[in-house]
Amino acid sequence: MNEVRSCPICLHDKSELLYTQKFAEHFEHKIVLCNFCGFVYVNNTPSQKYYNEYYKNQSKYEGTRQHEMHDEFTYKQFDYILRKFIPKNSSILEVGCSVGKLLDFIKHRGYKNLLGVEPAPECRIIAKKDYNISVITSTLEKFASKRKYDLVIFSAVLEHLTEVRNAIIKAYSLLNTNGMIYICVPDAERFHKKFDEPYGEFSTEHINFFTEKSLYQLMSNCDKVFIKSDGKAIVSLWKKIKIEDNGMHKYISQSQKKMGLILKKIELLPKNTIIWGVGALTQRLLMTTKIRNKIFKFVDSNKNLIGKKLDGIDILSPDKLVEYNNPILISSFAFKDEIAKETRKRELKNKIVTF
Ligand SMILES: [Zn+2]
Repeated sequence: MNEVRSCPICLHDKSELLYTQKFAEHFEHKIVLCNFCGFVYVNNTPSQKYYNEYYKNQSKYEGTRQHEMHDEFTYKQFDYILRKFIPKNSSILEVGCSVGKLLDFIKHRGYKNLLGVEPAPECRIIAKKDYNISVITSTLEKFASKRKYDLVIFSAVLEHLTEVRNAIIKAYSLLNTNGMIYICVPDAERFHKKFDEPYGEFSTEHINFFTEKSLYQLMSNCDKVFIKSDGKAIVSLWKKIKIEDNGMHKYISQSQKKMGLILKKIELLPKNTIIWGVGALTQRLLMTTKIRNKIFKFVDSNKNLIGKKLDGIDILSPDKLVEYNNPILISSFAFKDEIAKETRKRELKNKIVTF
């Protein structure tokens, strides 16, 4: 059963049909352009589960795919990337490693810590026999690993996946701090520049058509380390960056500290305190502290609130304050100065407490 797939890059679900590629009576790919980010992809794909089964059972595929992208250009760039950015003691995981030819290439450059993941079970046996490379028979989705990796490789893989974002998120979770992701995909931007067979690029297996721009979007939570295209393939390397919290941790710990001081002040309040301000702060304090026991009356200058009750306690006008000598707590940060000014203007003799 086919599903209508949202854009794998931006998750937008509106697209424009570019072309329908027919393969058989009931098998066609609708190639669409995302209305939001411009990514071109097949939107009537079967589920990832269908593809997992498909790739598991494709024995022909095991033999052919290993040559698909590993031509002179990609090997040369990959070799450069290894030498320049990947230390020899790195732990390396290749996703969709097929029979392990690329891992063997890496092994011959002095790397020892290598592992492949590949759904087709025969690949594990061939990789062991031909290259003495360890391969786990699994999809990336199901792959469970206690250890982390310094480099995760997607070579000629992402163009096949229905859930591209999930694959990158999973890879990201498998990386050490400062770990890297290597991505090699066909360069869709240049299909027309190296025009050959009509519609030849719309194969049964390719469902995502990447450009440099779409890779940047997909990898927006990584730093680009390297990106290069020869017009056929884009070779790229991305570095995991520390997740920024934009000071949220700091804000929360500042709040905790201040809240501690507020709780102490509430504890020290006499039982007959007048609370000036019935805004969000007061309402939150009523819900989360024992301030209720300390309140005599509320005061607020908002005419819509005067005469009403909050939590069963009267809300008075500031004009009424002359009748009471109870201490007043200014329960507002936003209007703290304004309220203090008001108490001075009214020449109130009450004790004034602030947070
Ligand atoms: Zn999109």
